[in-house]
Amino acid sequence: MDLLEHRGKSLFAGAGLPVLASRLALSPEEAQAAAGELGLPVVVKAQAKTGGRGKAGGIRVCATEVEVASATADILAMTIRGHGVSCVLVEEAVEIARELYLAISSSRAQRGPLLIFSAEGGVDIEEVARRHPAALVRTPVDPLLGLCDYQVRDVVAAAALDPELAGPDGTPAKQSLGGVVRSLWRLYRDSDATLCEINPLVITTFGEVVCLDSKVTIDDNALYRHAELKAESDAGAEDREARARKAGLAFVALDGDIGVLGNGAGLVMSIIDQIAAAGGSAADFCDLGGGARAEVVAAALDVILSTGTVSALLVSIFGGITRCDEVARGLVQVLGQSSVDVPVVVRLDGNAAFEGRAVLAEARLPGLTVAASAAEAVRLAVAAAASPAGPDTRRED
Ligand code: GDP
Ligand code: MN
Repeated sequence: MDLLEHRGKSLFAGAGLPVLASRLALSPEEAQAAAGELGLPVVVKAQAKTGGRGKAGGIRVCATEVEVASATADILAMTIRGHGVSCVLVEEAVEIARELYLAISSSRAQRGPLLIFSAEGGVDIEEVARRHPAALVRTPVDPLLGLCDYQVRDVVAAAALDPELAGPDGTPAKQSLGGVVRSLWRLYRDSDATLCEINPLVITTFGEVVCLDSKVTIDDNALYRHAELKAESDAGAEDREARARKAGLAFVALDGDIGVLGNGAGLVMSIIDQIAAAGGSAADFCDLGGGARAEVVAAALDVILSTGTVSALLVSIFGGITRCDEVARGLVQVLGQSSVDVPVVVRLDGNAAFEGRAVLAEARLPGLTVAASAAEAVRLAVAAAASPAGPDTRRED
């Protein structure tokens, strides 16, 4: 389970890690009020379960309340790497002197926790590893011994901080950094995390050490030990998944932008693979199961399209028990009456395929294309998703 930045930071605060004062906001008005409480300047940060928000424009430093409101409106409308933004974190702004990187992650290669520190944060860690190997500490933590003092000293040494540097309360920066490493280890261990990452961990111009970002992943298998997080996970398993379960669908949200609907798990998985092979990425796994009727198809489309981040929909049915004409009627029902504005590509084969295609042809739904084969359907859907301006999904035969 990946946590949003603000949730990770509340765990950070509980573990004694230094974070800035912040408020969560769902609207420009709330963000403005939050900025009023915190005092300007503030940073408005997109809450989305993905990195690279900074590069995408999802992090804005604001000097006035008007700026806060407009930045929030912009950010709430964004989609970052396929993730919608449901809220923003309004946080005190600081002046950054240096950006560092610190993480503890469960490493497959090490078969255990791995501590990674870089004296150059904020940028791609892979890049630092290549250019300045000495600025990087990678040290496995023995799960039985726990984090050892020498490992903390290694990190502090690699940071090469000025020995005189101290925060406003007089605490030496070296000591604060050591404390952060120890607290992060305790948090990783106690919360059954598989990842606790701070990028950037900053030194402010006042000599304070502050966690500016948080990325925390909790091991799903350990959620039963964390009642509060488990409850959030159930609530946040987005009612999308609950809705799908209720309709008898097998549904898993993925992070691409091509909605996928098919019958049979094997068929759906192969479509997802074909989409990836053709350069696209699937937004979901959705299996109608056998004998799906029109209402089930309608429920599936509703669930798949509800994120608003799908840019094309691919429906692939190989009818055995499922009748293609039933599926076609379901599609017509939903697409005919709702405002689905993404291109839809349909492939129907097997039981009642001929009748199904006739149903679709008769309905003349704008934006819907019937593909001649599964391979053609994949090609058309990937092309439609890749072309932002009114995708052309007409058959080229
Ligand atoms: P990410 O891009 O999704 O990892 O988002 P981060 O939370 O790491 O923020 C990206 C960048 O925004 C950081 O590396 C900082 O350079 C900048 N940033 C974030 N908060 C502040 C702040 O309070 N003051 C300043 N000056 N820059 C900030
Ligand atoms: Mn970051």
